[in-house]
Amino acid sequence: AGLFHSGCGRINERTFVAIKPDGVQRHLVGEIIRRFEQKGLQLVGMKLLQASEELLKEHYIAHRDRPFYPRVVKYMSSGPMVAMVWQGLDVVKTVRTMIGETNPADSRPGTIRGDFCLEVSKNVIHGSDSVESAQQEINLWFRPEELTCWQDTAEHWIYE
Ligand code: GDP
Ligand code: MG
Repeated sequence: AGLFHSGCGRINERTFVAIKPDGVQRHLVGEIIRRFEQKGLQLVGMKLLQASEELLKEHYIAHRDRPFYPRVVKYMSSGPMVAMVWQGLDVVKTVRTMIGETNPADSRPGTIRGDFCLEVSKNVIHGSDSVESAQQEINLWFRPEELTCWQDTAEHWIYE
């Protein structure tokens, strides 16, 4: 972080965020994007799609031996979701903090899961859990040309 890449922002850590099908059905898309925008993070990729079970099996491959694996794949493929890439300072950790804990019951008010949901099986949003998994997930969900480099004119009001 901190290196200047022309047109791509000063801080170039990126994370993958998905508003899950329940988040779309419950009309939380605007609210969730608003929170990340207002925080000062930069949106560099976004699309609405109904993901295939095949893609979701790959996305959740680390959980393949867990009992909830088939259920989470079904849930995530059950309707349209919004896939996004956000960029900024410590964005992976910052987004996870803003999302809250995996189980909404453990998520504090003020977090997305703490404010908008009740059950782990319907927890409205995904965020990558490390810089490495963020890179893998971005590559899985987006082609390079689907990500846009743009100069955020507010950047020098956000960063030192
Ligand atoms: P996350 O990184 O906070 O999203 O949590 P995990 O990587 O541990 O789990 C991935 C996703 O699987 C969660 O966000 C939930 O949607 C789902 N999940 C996790 N644990 C359970 C569970 O015990 N039951 C069900 N039904 N879903 C779960
Ligand atoms: Mg996870």
